Amino acid sequence: MSAAILDGKGMAKEIRAEIAQDVAEFTGKTGVTPCLAAVLVGENPASQVYVRNKQKACENCGLTSQLHTPSAETTTDELLALIDKLNNDSAVHGILVQLPLPDGIDELRVLDAVSPAKDVDAFHPENVGRIVQNRPRFLPCTPHGIQQMLVRSKVETSGANVVVLGRSDIVGKPMALMLVQKGPGANATVTVCHSRTRDLPAVTREADILIVAMGVAKFVTADMVKPGAVVIDVGINRTDDGLVGDVDFDAVKEVAGLITPVPGGVGPMTIAMLLRNTLTAATLQTG
Ligand code: NAP
Repeated sequence: MSAAILDGKGMAKEIRAEIAQDVAEFTGKTGVTPCLAAVLVGENPASQVYVRNKQKACENCGLTSQLHTPSAETTTDELLALIDKLNNDSAVHGILVQLPLPDGIDELRVLDAVSPAKDVDAFHPENVGRIVQNRPRFLPCTPHGIQQMLVRSKVETSGANVVVLGRSDIVGKPMALMLVQKGPGANATVTVCHSRTRDLPAVTREADILIVAMGVAKFVTADMVKPGAVVIDVGINRTDDGLVGDVDFDAVKEVAGLITPVPGGVGPMTIAMLLRNTLTAATLQTG
């Protein structure tokens, strides 16, 4: 039997409506409009699309946004000066540095320079440390979006075997950390896999919930999935066949119980969580 589709696009729309209501309430009470400042360095076309979508989503939810576009030739020091200015601007509540940064820029120094209070991507070591200790200020947008998908679809994570395929700082590692915590939408038994994992299909076949964040088009095939499993595909790969995930969707949907499509799965949820974090940032910075 074919898997049910986990409609991230529809779910993100509902969440954006909730956020719009919360923003209206917050602004009505405080007179403050939450503002996200995006920093887009150079002219990477995919990054330009991502940032435009994030700005559009802000506007639709009653948040404001700023766009800062230093050229690809900008230096690390110039970028640090811009971040410093945004850190000290009380009208800016969240700062987003769109990755990847052009070669030659010290990405870690730039990300570390963002004030932890405005770090809506939750990349700063202080915010990562807080996640480790289960007292987050912000949750990273993609893992948070995935956790919300699981909770809102009533997928039981407590006691479930979760396999996270990928160990990036942006998706894999924080995802694993969040699901292993004590608490709702967590309490899972988590395995993290990567390029050195031995007999990967044997590991992924044990997963009740398989979360794939690799960046390799259609890598996960039907024989790697336990019948009835929940499969969350984070991958975004531009191929001759168009945009595809890290999961071979057509084949895997015949084995899985629930599966996210690409596009229309995790992507829209990530943006919704960025808006939520910007509102949280504004709330923490106001009174
Ligand atoms: P990343 O930093 O490149 O990490 C990829 C991970 O996959 C690494 O841990 C790597 O292992 C592992 N891997 C790669 N090839 C493998 C293989 N053949 N076997 C086993 N493991 C393998 O990627 P990322 O930033 O997490 O992004 C992953 C994908 O998600 C990309 O397509 C990205 O565009 C997409 N993404 C989507 C969203 C969204 O909102 N939908 C957000 C973020 C990212 P090693 O560590 O051993 O190298």
